[in-house]
Formats: sequence, C-alpha cells, structure tokens
Amino acid sequence: METKFAVMDEKNIDMEAIGQAGKILKDGGLVAFPTETVYGLGGDALNKQSSKKIYAAKGRPSDNPLIVHIAELEKLTPIVEKIPEQAKVLAEKFWPGPLTMVLKKSEAVPFETTGGLETVAVRMPNHPVALALIKAAGGYVAAPSANTSGKPSPTLARFVQEDMDGRIDMILDGGQVGIGLESTIVDLTEEEPMILRPGYITKEMLEEALGVPVASDRTMMNADCKEPPKAPGMKYRHYAPKGDLTIITGEEKKVVEKINSLTKAMQEKGEKVGVIGTDDTVGNYHADSVKSAGNRKEEETIAKELYRILREFDEEEVTVIYSEGFDENGIGQAIMNRLLKAAGHHVEQV
Ligand code: AMP
Ligand code: MG
Repeated sequence: METKFAVMDEKNIDMEAIGQAGKILKDGGLVAFPTETVYGLGGDALNKQSSKKIYAAKGRPSDNPLIVHIAELEKLTPIVEKIPEQAKVLAEKFWPGPLTMVLKKSEAVPFETTGGLETVAVRMPNHPVALALIKAAGGYVAAPSANTSGKPSPTLARFVQEDMDGRIDMILDGGQVGIGLESTIVDLTEEEPMILRPGYITKEMLEEALGVPVASDRTMMNADCKEPPKAPGMKYRHYAPKGDLTIITGEEKKVVEKINSLTKAMQEKGEKVGVIGTDDTVGNYHADSVKSAGNRKEEETIAKELYRILREFDEEEVTVIYSEGFDENGIGQAIMNRLLKAAGHHVEQV
C-alpha cells in the first residue's frame, strides 16, 4: 500500500487533505494524525473492520482497547449508556484536552474497538488538525498511538512514517506535538473515580474539579504489584527503545559518577551507550550519545522530549541507555511511569 503524506500547520489547515483523509476513514481506511499528546493512528471507531485493521497495523494485542476520539460534546451521548455527572464536570473543565474518560458503552460501539470490554474510553483532543479530521470522518475516530506496539509513541510525523509507512493509507504531518506523553485515563464506571494511566492532567487537578478523592490504579508505578492493571494496555511492555534502558536515581553528583562508570564498563564490552541527562548535567557524561531532556525544573519540556530521545537512540543504534530519574511532581509522575515501563522497571539507586 502506498501511504499518502500531507504536511500542514495547525494555524493553516489544509482542508483539501482533511477532506481526503476523512473520506479514507469513512471508507474503512487508516489515517495517522497529530494530537496535542502524541500522534494517533485513526480508524472509524464504529466500524469493527477498521478497529481490526488498527490492531493489525500496530501489531497490537486485540484485548488492548482503543480510545474513541470525538470533536463535539453532543457526540458523546450515542456511544455511552449514560453520561455521569462527574463526566459532565470533567468534560466542561478539561475538554478539548489530554483527558480520557472510561464510561459504560452503548451498543453503537463494537467490541472490536473496546477489546471486548463493556466500557469505552473517550477523549476530545485539543488539536485543530485532529478536530477537523474527526468531524470530516463522521464524528468517531478510534486512535491508539501511531507506533508499532511496544515502541515509544511518536511525537513527530517522521517517527510515524518509520513504523507505519506502507501499512496505512495516509499520514497527516502537523509538526512536533505539544505535550509528548499520552492522555491521563480516568475510570468513571465505579463508585470512586480512578486514574488508570497518569498524564498531563494530574490527580490533584481531577480532585479539585470533582471535589472528591480520586484513586490511582496501584499497578501504575509499582512493578511488584501482582494484580493486573485496570487499563488492559498498561500490562504490556511499552514505550521501549531497542537499547537496554536503566534508570539511575539518587544525588546528582553520585548519579553522574555511577552512569559514567557503568558507561565505561559497557563500552569496554563493545556496547554503544546513550545517556539521558538534563541541561545541568549533560556536559559531565562521557557516552557515545548524550542527550538532555531539558531543564530538570521544567517537567513539561522533559515530557515533550522523552519519546523523541528514545526514538533517536534507536536511529543511532544505541544498545545500552542510562537515564537520570525525575521528580514525580505534576506531570513528573507520568514521565516516571513511562520511563519505568520503557526500562522494564530496571532502577538502580546510588
Ligand atoms: P493508546 O491508545 O496507545 O494510548 O492506549 C490506550 C490505553 O487506554 C490503553 O492502555 C488501554 O488499555 C486503555 N483503555 C482503552 N479503553 C479502555 C477501557 N474501556 N477501560 C480501561 N482502559 C482502557
Ligand atoms: Mg500506545
């Protein structure tokens, strides 16, 4: 299959390409597109054949449900059993934006889209290209991240192309995404709201909006937890670069020393070593490739750059990666959740 490619600016949307992409989706094809979190791989959410194609293109296990993207609030009613009061409050406050809500599904949503679940995850993305595409496609676009299953999510169209060229009908290139980590997922189907995946919208923000405590899935940050995570996708190895990643935590000076000594030992064994540091520390490392995730105090930059760095190490054929750890404040929890998964929870404290 030849994959069409259209470049556009979010302030200058190419409506002709959007029309073409919308038609592809209506006809059961697949289109990758930018959102504010990461690039999505879209198919018609109400067409079970489209969902099957998404799983095939990504090599994604079919029990890992897809998030349904909408562009207008009225489109929520037909796909859910009912809209709980809390969902109205959160939609009002955070949509369009990086928040996914899990609700009880209606019959309109095929089980192929929900991985066999009676619930459906829904989000309204805050990106003009995504919103225009969803409208052109008829209102419902199922879209997981546009990467091969297990790899870091794409934050630039060239990473989508690496994984999906020849496998999908079209890629819309809208430049680098703004946030860089997937949406927060909150489950509203039980008594107490529960975060299933951390993201830009934090527990504190949800609690403030709802005025009640919000729980977090215990499996989110903890490798030893024996229960399966409530978001089926979170049980899979994820976000992982090709190189073997270890996180080194502790006092800055000791972390630098430890990473440098590990690097030397690995280089002597013939490994190509990459290091993820921060603006303050990158100058102190002696590895084959050293990258800064940004200013340690600006978590949002780190979130935005993390997947790009992991993908670039793949391109450079780095075989061993060491990363500094990050604080778990605000979006820091989402950063560490992704980094821990990418590292298979391999952490060394110094
Ligand atoms: P991705 O689209 O690649 O960001 O992955 C979607 C995430 O949402 C996965 O971790 C899924 O397991 C999760 N998810 C989607 N639908 C549901 C649902 N109905 N219940 C719980 N988790 C869900
Ligand atoms: Mg994903």
